[in-house]
Amino acid sequence: KRKWKKVVGILRDLEEACETPLGRLRQMVDAIAVEMQAGLVSEGGSKLKMLLTFVDDLPNGSETGTYYALHLGGSYFRIIRVHLGGQRSTLEVQDVERHSIPTSLMNSTSEVLFDFLASSLQMFIEKEVFNLSQPVKRELAFTFSFPVKQTSISSGVLIKWTKGFAISEMAGEDIAECLQGALNKRGLDIRVAALVNDTVGALSFGHFHDPDTIAAVVFGTGSNACYLERTDAIIKCQNPRTTSGSMVVNMEWGNFWSSRLPRTSYDLELDAESMNSNDMGFEKMIGGMYLGDIVRRVILRMSQESDIFGPISSILSTPFVLRTNSVSAMHEDDTPELLEVARILNDLGVAEVALKVRKLVVKICDVVTRRAARLAAAGIAGILKKVGRDGSGGGRRSDKQIMRRTVVAVEGGLYLNYRMFREYMDEALRDILGEDVAQHVVIKAMEDGSSIGSALLLASSQSVQ
Ligand code: ADP
Repeated sequence: KRKWKKVVGILRDLEEACETPLGRLRQMVDAIAVEMQAGLVSEGGSKLKMLLTFVDDLPNGSETGTYYALHLGGSYFRIIRVHLGGQRSTLEVQDVERHSIPTSLMNSTSEVLFDFLASSLQMFIEKEVFNLSQPVKRELAFTFSFPVKQTSISSGVLIKWTKGFAISEMAGEDIAECLQGALNKRGLDIRVAALVNDTVGALSFGHFHDPDTIAAVVFGTGSNACYLERTDAIIKCQNPRTTSGSMVVNMEWGNFWSSRLPRTSYDLELDAESMNSNDMGFEKMIGGMYLGDIVRRVILRMSQESDIFGPISSILSTPFVLRTNSVSAMHEDDTPELLEVARILNDLGVAEVALKVRKLVVKICDVVTRRAARLAAAGIAGILKKVGRDGSGGGRRSDKQIMRRTVVAVEGGLYLNYRMFREYMDEALRDILGEDVAQHVVIKAMEDGSSIGSALLLASSQSVQ
């Protein structure tokens, strides 16, 4: 009986450490808006890198032509081909391929990685059924879900790897050039004509369908956001050379940090044992790569301090064995006996635990995911605040702002497939903004938006040349 008490104590401590009351979320919103500002003023002025993208015009539907995109995400890579007919309604996504990224690639060499991507693209193209008498020059957007310092819309250097990737000699390399080199080596007549962060692809896709879209957020293996900023607010960039008066800024918000973030001992351990400790603090609380591992650490602690999970399982001691997909499956298990929870625990080497223990596991999933979703909502509200769409009146607090319809495009496997995450996030955003403002803010979920949007962006950048 004392053991059960111990476990309940661990749960209480977890709940307390993960608390995100509205007041605290509002502090996060303010902190994010302040950090965004600091990151725009000077290079290195904030943990938020606020990277320039050189994207000033977003697709609007009038683009034409056939384009490709290859997207290297955190867990998947995708290849697509789209055809644009000059109208929104004539967008045709002709082919989509999605594959898991083999883990061996994540710590291979740049040569191996890019040759793998090139060979996948080669296979994709060889399967095409066009009957062309002459070879065509294909135009490709490279959608890349890691931090890049862009030097133009089609070039940029890797700042660092994240999400478990570790290919050492690559930081500082031009990513588009690496891919172009690998394609050339295989004799493929493909031009890497755009290098696009995945969030920027998502924003392009959102904007193509709905011009009120001003920001895009990805909740997948990792998490990141971008938004449309006025060029005069990007103080660190002296000569932005844009015609539209605005530019998309890639926040790299995974690296956001504030001492007010509700951090637990599990987060500290996870960070200390990660390849990029003291880095990507926000991502490690909200990214799909990490939620499962936080839950695993809590269960492991409970099993070490009590016997309710039986003998300590060596599987459970293995980092990242519990995936976030399993967390959502347990969390959303609606069988009265929690059979899905039992099955997943069994896979972790924890067999035959009592129903009340399974319920406890569901509760852990709930606490960890709710915290993530609420922090994610605070992040979105932070962007809205920065661009004056949070109803606070921006600098002029006395005038009540007239709220314009504001669309935020959201994508990523975590958001799309984990209903509880989505619901907690939507609820927290409504609470933070208040009903009057929230009714003007639309969260639009999209699938494959990053890849398709990158191809659209490439098309629109070519049409202005
Ligand atoms: P990537 O991050 O590679 O671009 P996605 O955006 O599709 O790819 O995100 C994949 C991630 O989303 C997975 O690593 C996982 O963390 C999360 N995810 C996918 N499906 C689910 C699910 N059913 N429940 C919870 N998380 C999920």
